[in-house]
Amino acid sequence: MAEYLIKNGFVFDPVLGIKGDVVDIAIKDGKIVETTEVKDPKVIDAAGKTVMAGGVDIHAHVAGPKVNVGRNFRPEDKLFTYKPRSGVERMQGGFSVPTTIRTGYNYARMGYTTVMEAAMPPLYARHTHEEIRDTPILDQGAYPVFGNNWFVLEYLKNHEIENTAAYVAWLLRATKGYAVKVVNPGGTEAWGWGLNCENVHDPVPYFDITPAQIVKGLIEANEYLGLPHSMHIHANNLGNPGNYTTTLDTFRLSEGIKPRSKFGRDQVMHHTHVQFHSYGGDSWGNFESKAPEVIDYVNSHDNITIDLGAVTLDETTTMTADGPFEHHLTELNHLKWANTDVELETGSGVVPYVYSPNIKVCAIQWCIGLELALLAKDPMRVFLSTDHPNAGPFTRYPRIMKWLMSEEARRQQIDSFKHRDKVIEATNLAGIDRELDLYEIAQMTRAGPAKALGLSQIYGGLAPGLDADVAVYDFNPSEPYAPDDIEKAFSSAEHLFKTGVQVIRDREIVSNGNKRTLWVNAKVNENPQVMRDVREKFLRYYTVTLNNYEVSGHHYIPNPYVIEVDATQ
Ligand SMILES: [Zn+2]
Repeated sequence: MAEYLIKNGFVFDPVLGIKGDVVDIAIKDGKIVETTEVKDPKVIDAAGKTVMAGGVDIHAHVAGPKVNVGRNFRPEDKLFTYKPRSGVERMQGGFSVPTTIRTGYNYARMGYTTVMEAAMPPLYARHTHEEIRDTPILDQGAYPVFGNNWFVLEYLKNHEIENTAAYVAWLLRATKGYAVKVVNPGGTEAWGWGLNCENVHDPVPYFDITPAQIVKGLIEANEYLGLPHSMHIHANNLGNPGNYTTTLDTFRLSEGIKPRSKFGRDQVMHHTHVQFHSYGGDSWGNFESKAPEVIDYVNSHDNITIDLGAVTLDETTTMTADGPFEHHLTELNHLKWANTDVELETGSGVVPYVYSPNIKVCAIQWCIGLELALLAKDPMRVFLSTDHPNAGPFTRYPRIMKWLMSEEARRQQIDSFKHRDKVIEATNLAGIDRELDLYEIAQMTRAGPAKALGLSQIYGGLAPGLDADVAVYDFNPSEPYAPDDIEKAFSSAEHLFKTGVQVIRDREIVSNGNKRTLWVNAKVNENPQVMRDVREKFLRYYTVTLNNYEVSGHHYIPNPYVIEVDATQ
């Protein structure tokens, strides 16, 4: 493989603690190495430019059946957005639900190299992996959903942690999954009966269990196995005024539990898209931000990490395994609605949404997402996301960086809101003057998520030995700049290396990379009961046989990266 030397750039790297010093970065055999180790490297002149590790997205919806439902039932999302094949680039299309091809290219253009698909229905894992396989450049993993799964509900109502863990290990292997995802625990199952679980103690119909028991039990099973990532949750009561109390109740379920993982993470709960969970008031009329209350809890509890779910003020396509929420949303906005049940496992819904700056609620939501980041004390535990495509497309990350780095940019946006004064009154953003720096951005978009995923030995930094995922941006932090310069520079990396392969040169995609699929192989002691339960459920309830369920073989995962976990002791 070619050797590279990226010379004289302003480097921002939380792993090495480099805050904008001019440092050379060397690449050899797919890894970052000491500069003395390269003999005859190709030199990249990065003078006057910003150098960071490749971005890591801990939570986005980019592959699988509900993304595809969104693509299919929103032809308007593709209008005027097609780009024909040229050079190494294949044909691409779509805006909020782009094709797999465009997904890979657009992340790469922003300097991202690793992206996690945040909700994989186990029954449709094969489809999810086929889409991941077709997404160029990026290393990807997928989180199977567990929070409404009949096996889990039955084991956890009797607090059978060992059986839950054995089932989790089996399902991760069967679906080639990466982590334990929970979406509206119990609520999506209740939705099968037209019901929901709106707080952590609402009973799940027919299962005699509560969301609190599901969440706590899955955290314990996760730590029993010692998985790389923690339990990853989208809590109950998403999107409703006053839901911040449910969020705090959910956070509290992690109290007293310590991480038990050799992969270097400190948290036992990752709570996703917290913007959607930080709402005060008791109606849309008195809707207000409770971001300070929510982030205060996160600031003072270091066994929790979160991502933002920041609203970008775009027209987008919402999609979630939170079936009852999507029904609620279609009743609010009267736009088209798709709803799916996934037998024994989960469900989902898809609804288009327009976050209009002229609607007071949307403007307040925008403020809440940014408040969470700007009031965070530890950027290593608070990560940038839009819950793509739910709060907006991932392609707006550079715009969010601009808002986080520039008070002026935020003020311009606030001043343009139709209900400016009411929005200011219901939020805290106008009173916050903090401006994040590039080091903090690197923590929120690289080092932090890599560490929370248990992947800090591979991604998130520029220390020798890590994968050579390196982005060079045309941004000079030592000179005065306008807010829009930030968005422009981070939308289009000048150079990008992925595992040592140059995939972007002079802002052009020059390679489809060497993408890998990450999955976790957790070994547990033999558990005859769980295997008997699996066989029985497939015979009695599933519409497919076990042979047609498991993901195996080169077709689905041509280039696997398996993380081995031994939980037999
Ligand atoms: Zn999500």
